[in-house]
Amino acid sequence: MANVQDDLLKKIIAHAKEYGFIFQSSEIYDGLSAVYDYGPNGVELKNNIKEYWWKSMVYMHENIVGLDAAIFMHPTVWKASGHVDAFNDPLIDNKDSKKRYRADQLIEDFMAKLNAKIEKEIAKGRKKFGESFDEQKFRETNPNVLRIQKKLDQVHSRYVQAMNNNDLKELRQIIIDYGIADPETGSKNWTEVRQFNLMFETQFGSVADEASKVYLRPETAQGIFVNFLNVMKTARMKVPFGIAQIGKAFRNEIVARQFIFRMREFEQMEMQFFVRPGTEMEWFEYWKNYRLKWHKNLGLGDELYRIHEHDKLAHYANAAVDIEFRFPMGFKELEGIHSRTNYDLSRHEQFSGKKLQYFDPELNKSYVPYVVETSIGLDRTVLAILSASYMEEDVSDKGQTEKRVVLKIPPALAPVKAAVFPLVRKDGLPEVARKVFNMLRFKFNVAYEEKDSIGRRYRRQDAIGTPYCITIDHQTLQDDTVTIRERDSMEQIRVKINQLPQIIEQRVNMSSLLEKLA
Ligand code: ATP
Repeated sequence: MANVQDDLLKKIIAHAKEYGFIFQSSEIYDGLSAVYDYGPNGVELKNNIKEYWWKSMVYMHENIVGLDAAIFMHPTVWKASGHVDAFNDPLIDNKDSKKRYRADQLIEDFMAKLNAKIEKEIAKGRKKFGESFDEQKFRETNPNVLRIQKKLDQVHSRYVQAMNNNDLKELRQIIIDYGIADPETGSKNWTEVRQFNLMFETQFGSVADEASKVYLRPETAQGIFVNFLNVMKTARMKVPFGIAQIGKAFRNEIVARQFIFRMREFEQMEMQFFVRPGTEMEWFEYWKNYRLKWHKNLGLGDELYRIHEHDKLAHYANAAVDIEFRFPMGFKELEGIHSRTNYDLSRHEQFSGKKLQYFDPELNKSYVPYVVETSIGLDRTVLAILSASYMEEDVSDKGQTEKRVVLKIPPALAPVKAAVFPLVRKDGLPEVARKVFNMLRFKFNVAYEEKDSIGRRYRRQDAIGTPYCITIDHQTLQDDTVTIRERDSMEQIRVKINQLPQIIEQRVNMSSLLEKLA
């Protein structure tokens, strides 16, 4: 199982490069670790995901407006937010392999393995007992399951306590006590655990001293908090209301070995929703449900998502869940929904000396609003879509064996919506094909291709997820009809040229995706 999944990630990385989705940064200089560039198809996919998010959050919620704050911010912002003091990960080195890990992740992976063992026992039981299998009873009585579960509960409770107390010694002790080994080499020769701050620093101006130190923002949220009053006043917003933003964030991640899942420069789509104190739990539920629906609405498969409750709440949060996605590496965080109380605004009041409050006319008093945040990684969404839509299909025909790789990307997000081909490069077909191409390009991102056989051209478009291919042939010259082939069914039908915009529109437009969500 693990190997099949590793293989899938490798295949996706290779495919993403070959078809112009994602390249390693500075590749000709052997790359820069955990930094990636998006190629011609990658940038289209990314832009379409942004559009889906932006429209669903901003256009479809009357009380949400947008913002584009700068990456650089006053350094005191990061003192107020707690990032200077506490944006740390516990780091541990393996003395033999010289590899560096996050201590918390080593323990979490260990717990996931124990869980997998339990699931395996249950699967065995189900096979053995068939129809009469009672999972609950099996969990309560099977000696193997009981033994592993006991161990899991022990690790879990020690882990949660150590994380909550920031107890680095205990984190190391858990790793030692349970014999957790370097996943790459099996060595158990570990250093102490140290805290490591994830913020990148740089200098402003020409004098390099402590006073000119600035940070690359590690999250986009703070740009929203410090603009709370500006936005509320100028957009004449009343609580409850939200501010949405898409932008780059930077984290000096300790372990960055999982392609675009964990990058040092990445993009977030965040929305901070300001509410009356005491109503935050209702809004937390609303946003949890809405965001899960947003994901499932893409049609990649409901079983690929699950909600994970946090074991350790951040110092500012009073509720938090992750929406996890089944990546090739297993279920991992794709988005976080956090109830952040009034922590951020209060801290900025304290550090800036400015009032960041809302006068509530119904209560006839002012307060610092509470905040519910939705925060999703754009790059992780790209990886989720690529991994769920990558398919290898057997398309053998009339004794000829053939395989195709097709990306079944939701059509509204597909980089190229349609490709136009003249059947042959003569007899006036390219001229007609160009006309069709020129007609469609005003509405959609379309491609024009005349090289290679039609079959090869189909395969190339399948590989980047193009929903439609349109072929101009000799019959077109007579009756203005073309064949249009649909990506998933590979079905071809003949239609009039003037019907094309409508046919394509129906399947690829963003509005129908949004309407399904409403
Ligand atoms: P993790 O536990 O995986 O490090 P996090 O809990 O620190 O993530 P948040 O601070 O909640 O993440 O950030 C919100 C979202 O930003 C995450 O759900 C994820 O999609 C994305 N994200 C965070 N760190 C990275 C990264 N290094 N590379 C790519 N995306 C990231």
